[in-house]
Amino acid sequence: MDARLESIKDTVLARNPGEAEFHQAVVEVFESLGPVHDRHPEFLEAAILERLCEPERQIIFRVPWTDDSGRVQINRGFRVEFNSALGPYKGGLRFHPSVYLGIVKFLGFEQIFKNALTGMPIGGGKGGSDFDPRGRSDAEVMRFCQSFMTELYRHIGEYTDVPAGDIGVGGREIGYLFGQYKRITNRYESGVLTGKGISWGGSLVRPEATGFGTVIFTQEMLKTRGTSFDGQRVVVSGSGNVAVNAIAKAQALGATVVACSDSSGYVVDEAGIDVELLRTVKEVERGRLKEYAERRAGVSYVDGGSVWDVDATVALPCATQNELDGDAAARLLRNGLLAVGEGANMPSTRDAVAVFQEAGVLFGPGKAANAGGVATSALEMQQNASRDSWSFEHTEERLTEIMVGIHDRCAATADEYGEPGNYVLGANIGGFVKVADAMLAQGLI
Ligand code: NDP
Repeated sequence: MDARLESIKDTVLARNPGEAEFHQAVVEVFESLGPVHDRHPEFLEAAILERLCEPERQIIFRVPWTDDSGRVQINRGFRVEFNSALGPYKGGLRFHPSVYLGIVKFLGFEQIFKNALTGMPIGGGKGGSDFDPRGRSDAEVMRFCQSFMTELYRHIGEYTDVPAGDIGVGGREIGYLFGQYKRITNRYESGVLTGKGISWGGSLVRPEATGFGTVIFTQEMLKTRGTSFDGQRVVVSGSGNVAVNAIAKAQALGATVVACSDSSGYVVDEAGIDVELLRTVKEVERGRLKEYAERRAGVSYVDGGSVWDVDATVALPCATQNELDGDAAARLLRNGLLAVGEGANMPSTRDAVAVFQEAGVLFGPGKAANAGGVATSALEMQQNASRDSWSFEHTEERLTEIMVGIHDRCAATADEYGEPGNYVLGANIGGFVKVADAMLAQGLI
């Protein structure tokens, strides 16, 4: 890392102790930014990096609610409003027991650059809670969401901060959150949340957007090597929103997705994952992946273990951070891996990224490859602002244009900085320069 950035990084890490994921995200971005500061000493002068690493606002709050047996439960809620240079804070809410400030800050930090890359007018933020929706009844989830919004509502708004979903927050949770916001404020402010249902201000393609976008981005990378998804053998991790839609899109483009996972194990389905059955088990019945294997002939279920043990030519990690380490990356290489497209945020460890890059595998980092979700959220905000709703075809066309644009911008930036094919560098520099220019223009705030 550039010596000037090294000392800024040390200060940031010391100032945010115990936040391992945030540290990892900061280091990964700083490693790309040396050359930018050679060309733009004014960024150093104006302390852009120091300011970028300090969120504009961090909100932590108590979320009390009662479970179905009448017992009081207490969770912790977070919203980190990281950077508003380009637009209102924008980023999802994650409900998962692992959530703490370090995870919310890593996600919020990544979101700044991702949102800049989309070319849409959105800043970066993220939030969530250590609440675990798994095994909770609808009524419990509703009471939790209502309590969460009873504090959050005072911090958000269509011109201020616009949350959406993430792990553990899908259409059901967004519905309960929106209902409570409307009740408290007496405003039908559609643009305050994205990921809404179609009949009440949602956008077609938003549920599919992150998974579809990841595949579109990866397809663009494959094209640079004269190939495509057609005929590829694909492994996807996760079986939630991003994973299911990535599977559907990859198979629509002619690939065979032979495996996917949840946090308990993985399935191997050599005939190609049956997306309809997977959607029924995961989205309708809210079941476990094991039940998919029980209902389909010729499918094996591996309890525990790593989905990265399954041979693939394309890998799409779509579950969670740090789920693919250096060892798993090396195992994947042995099987003729061509490309990795990150549907999740920071799923590959720094070791894994190094293994892929050294081996010349096409590697699309999450902040570029999974930006289709937030980009389509911005399209949802556009539709809300104009009280319009677009067709599936038109919205998907816009998503495709945006993903191809992000791919091309990352590739062009990597070329410009003398590292052709380095999408990590292209995404970090491309996103950073846009935000840094806006921060410079807006003065010391
Ligand atoms: P979901 O909650 O719909 O699905 C998450 C999936 O990942 C589930 O299959 C879950 O398994 C699995 N998973 C979660 N934690 C772990 C873990 N610790 N180990 C193994 N598997 C795990 O979330 P999404 O699909 O929305 O999000 C997945 C990833 O994509 C996240 O990194 C998220 O930040 C990122 N992302 C999501 C966007 C969106 O629009 N939703 C936008 C951009 C990025 P189980 O059910 O067993 O917990």
